[in-house]
Amino acid sequence: MLGADEELGDWRRTCYSTDVTPELEGKDVIIFGRLASVREQGGITFLVLQDMKGIVQATVHKDRSTPALLEKVKSLKQYSLIGIKGSVKSILKAPHGAEVVPSEIRVLDEPRKRLPFDPYGRTEQGIDKRLDLRMVDLLRPRSQAIFRVRSVALNATREFLHGEGFIEVNTPKIIASATEGGSALFPLLYYDKEAFLAQSPQLFKEQLACVFEKVFEIGSIFRAEQFRTLKHLSEATSVDVEQAYVTYRDVMELLERMISHVIESLNSKCKDELSTLQVRLEPLKPPLKRITYDEVLKVVEKEGVKVEWGEDLSTPALKVCSRLFQGYHFIIDWPTSSKAFYLKPKSDNPELCESFDFMYGSVELASGGSRISNRKDLSRRIREQGLNPKSFEYHLRMFDYGVPPHAGWGLGFDRLVMVFTGVENIREAVLFPRDPQRLTP
Ligand code: ATP
Ligand code: MG
Repeated sequence: MLGADEELGDWRRTCYSTDVTPELEGKDVIIFGRLASVREQGGITFLVLQDMKGIVQATVHKDRSTPALLEKVKSLKQYSLIGIKGSVKSILKAPHGAEVVPSEIRVLDEPRKRLPFDPYGRTEQGIDKRLDLRMVDLLRPRSQAIFRVRSVALNATREFLHGEGFIEVNTPKIIASATEGGSALFPLLYYDKEAFLAQSPQLFKEQLACVFEKVFEIGSIFRAEQFRTLKHLSEATSVDVEQAYVTYRDVMELLERMISHVIESLNSKCKDELSTLQVRLEPLKPPLKRITYDEVLKVVEKEGVKVEWGEDLSTPALKVCSRLFQGYHFIIDWPTSSKAFYLKPKSDNPELCESFDFMYGSVELASGGSRISNRKDLSRRIREQGLNPKSFEYHLRMFDYGVPPHAGWGLGFDRLVMVFTGVENIREAVLFPRDPQRLTP
């Protein structure tokens, strides 16, 4: 049959594009992928096939091929999904030093519409246009590189935490009440009740740390803030860690060792991707700089930026910080009033709490701290933050049964991927981003 929609039949891939090397000289292979380009020159048709590993060249010679094959090649459309059966031939100029000489080609599907942009082209399209047709956008080498880096970073994160003896948990994303204050929640109808999408697994991971001692979760967090920034999404991926019998100092060390491990892993497993993205990841050498909130206020004031004590750091203040403390660093010991209710005030100065933000330049990557572990203090902090302890009764009651000292953090994984891949917009680092303007695809 000619044209599109041929069957796979009994064809199965024998190797990937990158396996087509001189060592396979003379061997018969079956390869599959998308036709990135088709070009005729001097009686030879050059096909470039792209699969999950890379690209491979196939050449069809006019004077050495069957009429059926030549006719098939003439009808091939760029971007079609095809299978090629053929033999491998060494050729210096081809990618990986070899090409496939087809004996048969099957067209499994072909585009029925013109692609709105050429994923293999050099012109960079605007992000909105690309996100509207994300599948096509993901064919771009840059997009491919970002999500391969993301996958390796995710795996390295899991590997590290498992290696440290943490167990991975999954907590509900449909919840009854807020954990970070009431304003930024997405409400939903849960049968006949009102419920919300979870802003963070905070209270669940604290309960679990009381039993399993070392837990982590990698999952979605939902924030209903009305923003339009390059660093916020309505749905983000968070790496959450909680550990018993430690303080914020210990979990900061854990975090910097984890980032160091992930960078090492990327440098060894993602050389091609990092070079496509033109980024260099410097190895991390813990301990990172730890600057107190009070010090930050002093140094930014010297630079002419005033922040009222107790306020969060403004964008101009963070800009100054990113200039003074480049790269990864911690800002520690925040005012208790500026942080969530579950953070533990310092015993020698309860105006401050045992807390930190983990930064890369002016980007906040993670927040964490030691937690309050007794009911009376926690209820008081809930009231001080203008929340109702009654809505937290399901959580507060666990404190009646014994809670160890514990600490932890939540790391915005999409923001970390931004840093690793050097992208400016968080939407580049998320496959199908959600923001106030975008709910599809
Ligand atoms: P920000 O001040 O940047 O809005 P936050 O302090 O409200 O962040 P936390 O509640 O501390 O955020 O959440 C822990 C981490 O999760 C943050 O450090 C950040 O990396 C990530 N994060 C939080 N909100 C978002 C969001 N809307 N989009 C993407 N990542 C987020
Ligand atoms: Mg924070």
